[in-house]
Amino acid sequence: MEGLLYDGLTSRAWRVEIGLQAGRVTAQALDDPHVGIDWPLEEVREAAHAAGRYRLTRGDDDARLVVEIQPWRAFSGRSANAIARRGRGTEWGLIAGLVGAGATLAAVVFVGVPRAAGPLAAWTPPALEARFGSNMEAQFKVAFRPCKGDPSGAAILSDLGDRLAEGSTSAFDIRVQAVRAPFVNAFALPGGAILVTDDLIAQARTSDELAAVIAHEIAHVERRHAMQAAWRSMGAGLLLDAVVGGGTGAGQQAVLLAGGFADQRFSRDLETEADARAIQLLGAQDISTRGMADFFGRMANRKDDPRLRRAAEWFATHPDTAERAHRAAAVAAHGTPALSEADWRVLKAACQVVRR
Ligand SMILES: [Zn+2]
Repeated sequence: MEGLLYDGLTSRAWRVEIGLQAGRVTAQALDDPHVGIDWPLEEVREAAHAAGRYRLTRGDDDARLVVEIQPWRAFSGRSANAIARRGRGTEWGLIAGLVGAGATLAAVVFVGVPRAAGPLAAWTPPALEARFGSNMEAQFKVAFRPCKGDPSGAAILSDLGDRLAEGSTSAFDIRVQAVRAPFVNAFALPGGAILVTDDLIAQARTSDELAAVIAHEIAHVERRHAMQAAWRSMGAGLLLDAVVGGGTGAGQQAVLLAGGFADQRFSRDLETEADARAIQLLGAQDISTRGMADFFGRMANRKDDPRLRRAAEWFATHPDTAERAHRAAAVAAHGTPALSEADWRVLKAACQVVRR
């Protein structure tokens, strides 16, 4: 079977032929005999990637293999896959955890959710946040379709996200994807999914500007701000959805949730915290915060321009943009561009293909 290999060194997606022999998985690039992997099947970990795909990894190896789920299952003989089994396991732990939190949690949920959103987010079991986030992501993608076009574009974006997340202590696998939406914004969903709109990618003039936005969203994920926002807007309904989830009402609940979430506004303190953290994440990858300063600066100047109203969406959910641009400019240093010129062009074009 075929798949895509990311070697962990470059952002290139290698088309590979995958083989399985004597309990080992091999992948060999079609274009280059020197690029490939050879992993023991039992050490291969599966994680959800884009729709219908797995991202396969092994230990500390930076390489990742992306395969379609159904052929992979048939090929590897992993029937009901490891993820599904793990998922059921955590669910019991999760429910036990919630019952354990019991009366205290219920009291906070029904009495003081907005105030308790911070602590509640911190107590939320990561498995619950992940599950809840994937519901929300599915709903988001009904309204905002993923950018299609050249699949290397999606890979370049996702790799940039992975790189920026390297310095992050997030409990979640960061997955950055582009979606088609008629406004300039980016969303950090609970559980690590980050959605960047095609309009935002179009508005970004350099890969450093885009990297700044992604780093900022990663910070929201790491600090579980998205989970706080979810608790704040949904409260008890969220808990019910989580426990009852999968039942008939769950989808509807998620729609409501996605609707409210598209409007998410984090407090000024949380935004400042996310910016400060983003500056660290950029620095760790030797990316200048000049991009952050430029992007915020432009968004701030455009908010009153009716022709660029769509660009002001970011501004609407991210107040004090001008001040934040100043802060980023103050610490801007030289760096290495977040992406090569070639990769940046591929990424920009990937979304433009489907632009209205
Ligand atoms: Zn933000």
